[in-house]
Amino acid sequence: MMTINEFIKALKKRYGVFPMSDPFQVLIFTILSQRTKDSNTTEATARLFSKYKTPEQIAEAPLKEIELLIKPAGFYKVKSKYVKNASRCVAREGMPDTLDALLALPGVGRKTANCVLVYGYNKPAIPVDVHVHRISNRLGFVNTKTPEQTEQELMRLIPKNKWILVNSLLVKFGQELCSAKPRCSHCPIAKKCSYPDKR
Ligand code: SF4
Repeated sequence: MMTINEFIKALKKRYGVFPMSDPFQVLIFTILSQRTKDSNTTEATARLFSKYKTPEQIAEAPLKEIELLIKPAGFYKVKSKYVKNASRCVAREGMPDTLDALLALPGVGRKTANCVLVYGYNKPAIPVDVHVHRISNRLGFVNTKTPEQTEQELMRLIPKNKWILVNSLLVKFGQELCSAKPRCSHCPIAKKCSYPDKR
């Protein structure tokens, strides 16, 4: 069986590194991404930023207008409030760049805050979404019940200078192969994988 660090190395060879984005856009994208597909999030984010470019503009925008623009992301009534209120905080106090300050924003949990640190600021953190949680447990790297426990375990197992890679690589691997119904017959690491229900 391979270790988590060998696994990360193999995935880096396959997928490379991720591009950086504007921290405020990462914040809004990740708020919108909760409980929906990536394609819906991308569409909703593009619609919102096509009309409003800055935190100040979104903070001032009518709630109904924001709802309409982000509708493709689902749960748009709740998400529009988070988007508007988070934008209001950023417009007033500037874009936060620490975990604690990000967690203080409306609608921001650990996954969102860690995504902003990684994709917006290139700072070491491990955002744990459904892919990271599922794959880490499926391959036996961790044995955890919650994303928070998975984050803590992965931070213990992986050197800090590699944390930044974990989310992007496992998300890509989860989207391509190791999804809820894994495509094990196409998987390049199938021989080293100890998952008992390989398909
Ligand atoms: S063999 Fe299947 S379960 Fe194992 S890593 Fe590959 S896709 Fe995931």
